[in-house]
Amino acid sequence: MKIPDKITANCPSCHKHVIHNVRINRKGKESTLSRGRRKYTEVKKGYGGSPRTPKKPVYKVGKRTVLILECSNCKKKHQRIFEARTKKPIEVTS
Ligand SMILES: [Zn+2]
Repeated sequence: MKIPDKITANCPSCHKHVIHNVRINRKGKESTLSRGRRKYTEVKKGYGGSPRTPKKPVYKVGKRTVLILECSNCKKKHQRIFEARTKKPIEVTS
C-alpha cells in the first residue's frame, strides 16, 4: 500500500491542522543491556534451555504500521498508528 509523504493533520502543540511530513517508524535492534534482558539471562543460567514455559504464539494476518508525523510549522513529531493490518509493507510516495 502507498501513502503520500505530506498529509494535513492536527498538530497537538500548534492546535490546528497543518501539513506534516510522513515517515515510517522502523523497529530498531533490541538492546542487550536493558534491565529485562539482563534479568532474563540471569534467570536462564544453569538450565539447558529456558526455565519458563514458552508463550503460545498468536497468529495475526499482517502487521500494523506506526507513522511518524513531523509538523512543518513547529517541527515537533508525533505518532499515528495506521489501524489497518497490511501483509505488504507500506510505502511512502511523493
Ligand atoms: Zn506544530
